[in-house]
Amino acid sequence: LVVLDHVDKWFGDLHVLQDINLTVDRGEVVVVIGPSGSGKSTLCRAINRLEVIQQGSITLDGQPLPAEGKELANLRAEVGMVFQSFNLFAHKTILENVTLGPIKVRGIKKEAAETRARELLDRVGVGHQAAKYPAQLSGGQQQRVAIARALAMEPKVMLFDEPTSALDPEMISEVLEVMVDLAKRGMTMVVVTHEMGFARTAADRVVFMADGAIVEENTPDEFFTNPQSDRAKDFLGKIL
Ligand code: ATP
Ligand code: MG
Repeated sequence: LVVLDHVDKWFGDLHVLQDINLTVDRGEVVVVIGPSGSGKSTLCRAINRLEVIQQGSITLDGQPLPAEGKELANLRAEVGMVFQSFNLFAHKTILENVTLGPIKVRGIKKEAAETRARELLDRVGVGHQAAKYPAQLSGGQQQRVAIARALAMEPKVMLFDEPTSALDPEMISEVLEVMVDLAKRGMTMVVVTHEMGFARTAADRVVFMADGAIVEENTPDEFFTNPQSDRAKDFLGKIL
């Protein structure tokens, strides 16, 4: 579904993505881990063209990523993204946060968008908060709204960039549960996370990055019990 083929990206002199080859199949959950600065966020951002690559190609469903205009807006809808910070619209209600994209980008009627939004908010456990504003919700609740907002666009793939790392410990599991549920429902997901429990339970594949390159790619079982490279062994030694 998502194919990165010999992708290279530089920030000035810094070769931040180095010959990245990665295929994410439909329904697959890929967890990306690696040290700080290894290029995980840049990789995610390249997939919905928040970052432009200099070499190689990225395709979604066989189509190259569009560069601008309505096609780019559609791509952003098809590639849902959830960041560390919740990025909700502060001056809109929870319900409006979720209906805005479908109405504006997908051209869905307000009533239909609201019905769907309420379903999604119920599913992530914040249905009763629909009339509130983001600041009135906890971090974990806001992050679940952010997931519902991305899902409302009917994305083909969901990207998560450390979705729980800004949360208080007691809120992490409620967000991870929503993500595990999403994985079980067959959503294609690319997840950057340090939550190794999530990687073990939900990932089909773990991709280990270091210094802008994919160093290792394996099933979670194999990766955690039998890492091949010194970089991965070193990294796992520090975080586990
Ligand atoms: P972390 O685990 O800390 O989030 P990461 O693996 O997500 O790290 P990236 O954010 O992708 O790493 O950054 C990779 C490298 O690119 C880092 O060295 C970072 O300083 C650099 N970088 C990121 N964004 C930019 C930018 N806009 N301009 C210049 N350099 C950047
Ligand atoms: Mg990052």
